[in-house]
Amino acid sequence: MSVSVFDLFKIGVGPSSSHTVGPMIAARQFACHVRDTLGLAAVHHVTVELFGSLSATGVGHGTDKAVLLGLAGHEPDHIDPDQIQPAIADIRIRQTLELLGEHMVPFVEKEHLLFRRKSLPLHPNGMAFHAFDAQGNEIAAREYYSVGGGFVIDAAGERVLNSAATAGPDAAGHAQGLPHPFRTGAELLAQCQATGLTPAQLMAANEQHWRSAFEVRRQLMAIWKTMAGAVQRGCASTGTLPGPMHVRRRAAELHHKLSTQPEAALRDPLSMLDWVNLYAMAVNEENAAGGRVVTAPTNGAAGVIPAVLHYYVNFLPGANEDGIATFLLTAGAIGIIYKENASLSGAEVGCQGEVGVACSMAAGALAAVMGGSPEQIENAAEIGMEHNLGMTCDPVGGLVQIPCIERNAMGAIKAINAARMALRGDGQHVVSLDKVIKTMMQTGADMKVKYKETSRGGLAVNVVEC
Ligand code: SF4
Repeated sequence: MSVSVFDLFKIGVGPSSSHTVGPMIAARQFACHVRDTLGLAAVHHVTVELFGSLSATGVGHGTDKAVLLGLAGHEPDHIDPDQIQPAIADIRIRQTLELLGEHMVPFVEKEHLLFRRKSLPLHPNGMAFHAFDAQGNEIAAREYYSVGGGFVIDAAGERVLNSAATAGPDAAGHAQGLPHPFRTGAELLAQCQATGLTPAQLMAANEQHWRSAFEVRRQLMAIWKTMAGAVQRGCASTGTLPGPMHVRRRAAELHHKLSTQPEAALRDPLSMLDWVNLYAMAVNEENAAGGRVVTAPTNGAAGVIPAVLHYYVNFLPGANEDGIATFLLTAGAIGIIYKENASLSGAEVGCQGEVGVACSMAAGALAAVMGGSPEQIENAAEIGMEHNLGMTCDPVGGLVQIPCIERNAMGAIKAINAARMALRGDGQHVVSLDKVIKTMMQTGADMKVKYKETSRGGLAVNVVEC
């Protein structure tokens, strides 16, 4: 196993982990590489090429802005979302940027940021960065790939980390010596059976390979608080989302209705669903607006897990901080199996790799905090994915808005139902989590490119942007 729960749950900014968070990390990494090998003073100018899906939907997903911010030294977990627009405006007006905040270079987007329709060999989300001296000689060049969920690799397949992740697995993603290693659902269940531990307890022990129990809990609570903050801001924000469609933010209005008409809930046994929808939509509207969210396991799917976790906290008896930690650790254990065996990238496998995986993680996590056995947890996670198989990625206008916002609400509701179905059984079932993950990967490979985050198929071509 090479992934920590804090690699799956990363505090960042919207609207996309693969198209915003990853490119920002890659751009900063390139600037750091040049600084450390040549010195920034040697650089006259830089160029950036965006390939494949980053080119097709990059502007709608904020890739262009993310690259500028990364070159300027910003990191997704530290940048103040309110400072993004002024920083971008400053670069665009001056047509210069300060590499890592230290060395000024010209940057005219038409000349220095190039969109290429073709893909680089390793992944649809490829980037190439080049640095030139004053004579126009190329003095440094690197390729990176944003492979989903904010994970970045270089051309050698080595993982690239941002500075905040240095306390986790090493730069190559290696993690020898974990007390309870697992890569598959079967291995996770075998570890649980051999040790008598739950998936969350296994994960907690593994996390302590990298950080103290106190630090694990502190970071888990920071993740939870950031998720809760996204819900709160989403419920308080009105107006329209960025982009030509002027999509209206709905969470605030829904929150107002639900809060001011509590008697309506007494007449409607399914009113709880309205709240779950609200939590998910609030987070995803915040994400679409470029706000602070937690990658869970991607930004496009950032609303599913917070929505189901809010359902646990606000609607289930006995919810407490231990339960929140159990929820996040269990979700992390399931997410790791997807990361190890399939993909978290809509550009690689469609939305089944984003909202589908989030649904599966949330389903298993909810089953865990509702008292499920490891077998029931695995069953819930399997159901959560089985009924998302084949789901395409077709964001209208290349924006993470339609169908993404409502899709997160649907994913959250599906996760709750998956957990309930699993908890009504004994954990024995025909399709294992590993088999459904294998099927998801194969289905993603068979899916036409136009359905994989290119906005060249599906809703993206049947809904007219106004
Ligand atoms: S359709 Fe799904 S995978 Fe595609 S951008 Fe939206 S949330 Fe992400």
